[in-house]
Amino acid sequence: MTGRSAAADSTEFNQNGLQMSAGEMADLAQYATEILVERWQQLADERAWEGDFRDSLASLLDEDPPEEGHPPRHVIDRAVKDVLCNTLRLDHPRSFGFIPTCPTWPGVLADYLAAGFNVNAVAWLVASGPSQLEAIVVNWFRQWFGLPEGAGGLITSGGSAAALHALVAAREAANNPRRAVVYMSDATHSAQMQAARVIGIPASRIRALPSDQGRLMPDSVAQAVSADRKAGLTPMIVCANAGTSSRGAIDPLSELAEICADQGIWFHVDAAYGGGAILTQRGAKALKGIDLADSIVFDAHKWLFQPYEGGCVLVRSADALEKAFAIQHDVLQDTVWGVKHANPSDLGIQTSRSFRALKIWMSIQTFGLAAFRSAIDNGLDLAEHAGEYIRASSVLELMGGSLSIVCFRVNPGGMDEDALAHINRVVLAQMFWHGHAFLSSTSLDRRPALRLCIVNHTTTWRDVVETLVEIEEWAQEAVS
Ligand SMILES: *Cc1c(COP(=O)(O)O)cnc(C)c1O
Repeated sequence: MTGRSAAADSTEFNQNGLQMSAGEMADLAQYATEILVERWQQLADERAWEGDFRDSLASLLDEDPPEEGHPPRHVIDRAVKDVLCNTLRLDHPRSFGFIPTCPTWPGVLADYLAAGFNVNAVAWLVASGPSQLEAIVVNWFRQWFGLPEGAGGLITSGGSAAALHALVAAREAANNPRRAVVYMSDATHSAQMQAARVIGIPASRIRALPSDQGRLMPDSVAQAVSADRKAGLTPMIVCANAGTSSRGAIDPLSELAEICADQGIWFHVDAAYGGGAILTQRGAKALKGIDLADSIVFDAHKWLFQPYEGGCVLVRSADALEKAFAIQHDVLQDTVWGVKHANPSDLGIQTSRSFRALKIWMSIQTFGLAAFRSAIDNGLDLAEHAGEYIRASSVLELMGGSLSIVCFRVNPGGMDEDALAHINRVVLAQMFWHGHAFLSSTSLDRRPALRLCIVNHTTTWRDVVETLVEIEEWAQEAVS
């Protein structure tokens, strides 16, 4: 009896005000859904960029946490109006800056479901279904990139985290040599440089070799490796690109792989952006040699149309991650279920993990891979047509690009490099503040370039051509 009344009493402690009734839960979810569906339907009619300066946002949002709560619809309204709307709309059909993403609805719902089911994708004991599903999604990726059956990997927050995992695995596989050297090109994404720093490689042993048209030249790698060996250093990792973020450049993967195989160097390939192209015929041809990688980084939250966050690290030998990361821990001793049940937390630096594989699986299950292939192909087509348009334009100059990235500049003729740099800055600023599209710039061989990155399954040729026409108009205005 005493036990019972203690239990009855304990319900008293539960009256903390953090629960909602079933009706309220469903009503709020419905409200949030309506807001999202309306946003998606109106997206193309909105500006691609929205944002504000610190002072105005601080005056809207700076406050102490309230001791008493507010009506939940009011809280959602505030979040939408003052916070969520002040963002670059990366899924807008004319959002061409950086490397955006445009998720599918089942992917968004998957994140909602994963949060609602409160999944912690840490271990088999805690989440057997999610662990199995993540292994399946990773295995799909393994097959896409042509890695052998013993390969494995992990879904990560993104490409940067994936790169770090790959480099740690590489260092451990090389038995952590004392004077290790890492090679990449000067066009390589900073994530590789960061990962090299985090694994303890000082700047003096990170070789950012000059690229040619954004590509790492095998000869320069071979020379640097040989010079470093002579100096008593240990060449450890070559970081190659399968689609640089600046202009989509793809390094000569097969040749670099051969050097690495000869020299016993880990061959890492950053396909965070370009990896999606593997699903198309053209892309697979362009990425030839990626199957020779010891590790690959791929972002599903770029050219595979997933919500943030969804990166992946693949390693040629699945043990490489476990060898690098698995550490037994008393409080998790019950989760050890043997080799058939590798716990995701043993393959990387996260213990508690959100269930990121679900969105990839659900969106592919819903639409089928053919739809993804065709959406990726569409990006390749649009980039090709944009290139043709720019080539034929009297005020635009094509500067480079590959896969779905097109780099160009305003160049009406008769201007020196300084004047060209200036006019391109002016046009970019006009597009930013007044334009109907969002684009960002880059530097190609130290010359400023405008850039379209087309990885959105809703983007049409009309979106692309109207953006280019608008740039031509701003250019005319800037010269006159
Ligand atoms: C985006 C990107 C990264 C970094 O990935 P995140 O998901 O942003 O962490 C690395 N390399 C390339 C080529 C990229 O495009």
